[in-house]
Amino acid sequence: MNRDANEIELLAVSKTKPVDDILAAYHAEQRHFGENYVQEGYDKTVALADYHDIVWHFIGPIQSNKTRLVAESFHWVHTISREKIAQRLNDQRPPQLPPLNVCIQMNIEQESSKSGVVDEQVYALASLVDTMPNLTLRGIMAIPSQQSDTHKRKQVLQSIADIYHKLKQQFTTVDTLSLGMSGDMGDAIAAGSTMVRVGTAIFGERLKKGTD
Ligand SMILES: *Cc1c(COP(=O)(O)O)cnc(C)c1O
Repeated sequence: MNRDANEIELLAVSKTKPVDDILAAYHAEQRHFGENYVQEGYDKTVALADYHDIVWHFIGPIQSNKTRLVAESFHWVHTISREKIAQRLNDQRPPQLPPLNVCIQMNIEQESSKSGVVDEQVYALASLVDTMPNLTLRGIMAIPSQQSDTHKRKQVLQSIADIYHKLKQQFTTVDTLSLGMSGDMGDAIAAGSTMVRVGTAIFGERLKKGTD
């Protein structure tokens, strides 16, 4: 499969990493950064507030009592899987900011350890998000399991890509398939990912565990 590198956005996942690491990547032209923990991510957006062209993506689980900080300080959220969270982000997005870009998180393998909507649910949630004035529906995000069965892994990636293409036909704002991490970005790109979320391969192993 041939893909043009311009079609694929690199999201640098900087969770648990210090602000200096983000700045080093910034000086190497990186602009999109992903954070998983609300407080840590918020602190970084404050520390780097002078860098107006950084695009901050929230890619961690969101509890409803933490939506305000996310709505106020991030540009993107990849982990929408409940109507309640979408509604709160829409209501709490400050009016002077452009709409928050959102991806719906899918969990098509129905793993209990992960959040995300299953198959058909995505269309209902997408239709709802599409009506919210302070959110822009950009696409879907998934974290496929790292199973060793190559055929199965590709099947999962393909089903996610199929749903993405259906959504794209239905909603004109949809242009993002957030899929692929350090360990599986090659397969994800082959399947049609438009945004890979890469932490370890850019910043090295994470030593500490993040906290919310
Ligand atoms: C941590 C994380 C990543 C990056 O993972 P790496 O394996 O370090 O590249 C990507 N996406 C999500 C949702 C993550 O939580």
